Amino acid sequence: MKRRRFIQLSSLSVPAFTVKSVRNKTPVKPIIVSTWADGKRVNQEAWKILGNNGRALDAVESGARWMEDQQNCCVGLGANPDRDGIVSLDSSIMDEHANCGAVAAIQRIKHPVSVARKVMELTPHVLIVGKGAQEFALKNGFALEPQTLSEPAKKAYEEWLKKSQYKPEINIENKDAGNGPFAPAYLDDGTPNHDTMGIVAMGADGNMSGAVTTSGMGFKMHGRVGDSPIIGAGLFVDNEVGAATSSGLGEEVIRVCGTHLVVEFMRMGYSPGMACRKAVERIVNRDPERAKGFQVGFLALDKMGNYGAFAVQKGFVISVKSNNEEKIIPADYIYDYGVT
Ligand code: ASP
Repeated sequence: MKRRRFIQLSSLSVPAFTVKSVRNKTPVKPIIVSTWADGKRVNQEAWKILGNNGRALDAVESGARWMEDQQNCCVGLGANPDRDGIVSLDSSIMDEHANCGAVAAIQRIKHPVSVARKVMELTPHVLIVGKGAQEFALKNGFALEPQTLSEPAKKAYEEWLKKSQYKPEINIENKDAGNGPFAPAYLDDGTPNHDTMGIVAMGADGNMSGAVTTSGMGFKMHGRVGDSPIIGAGLFVDNEVGAATSSGLGEEVIRVCGTHLVVEFMRMGYSPGMACRKAVERIVNRDPERAKGFQVGFLALDKMGNYGAFAVQKGFVISVKSNNEEKIIPADYIYDYGVT
């Protein structure tokens, strides 16, 4: 990239943080932070464990399972299929000891996050994919669900087939939805309309864990794997420093090892919000023009219970719950739907 453009971008006047960047003096725990507005319900589910001195690992798994049970465009078996009309799911989980497990492109299994946990706990591996992941799940007591599309997914797929255009873009939240910062994350009836569910949490004991679950990009190529099941891309937990997760165009997150980068920025002393911002800038600075056309959002939580988020585009929101607060917070961003 030309140096001049880089300097311009580095000095972009990004609005002041709406995501809190104050530093807690004593650790706030337990605490949970999740992607998107549907993270609010996810957090409430996880809180049944986290709020009762439970382990963060159990809490994030339970939150992810709740999400996988919902009818949603982007998580679980009811989600949008790939371009061959097949739903395939990606998930990962990581605990305070850097134990981690993941599954990718798994089909007909309702709770990929729990399969990911079994990969972590029962195998010497980190990531199992496709048919092998399904076989592993079946051997470990998971049921084989029917290969059918949910009604909304069927409709969306039929609509997509009319043009069959593959645009693995953008994931810019519905900019026409209007009605304030949270509108893009909800459908008219109030159901969430987004997206990869990424969750990071710290238990009352100060230990951190995270989980991610998704169907990836709708109408992706069959077999495509995004950032969500890649440790260090869609999820990273370092119990000494903090944890981070992501949503948006996974290919861009993978290219910079996004969540690992965020955690490393926190290790250098940046606040969670600033660490997310620096990771977003790493992505955008490579090609600012191209970045106008896609979304990536990061969220992060540190050992003191400070949290933050930042996104390429307007529209990314995070959900936070602790004993002190329960909130949905819009992340700050570089582009307002493609406009600087
Ligand atoms: N990050 C996910 C993926 O690329 C998709 C999303 O978050 O919307 O698979």
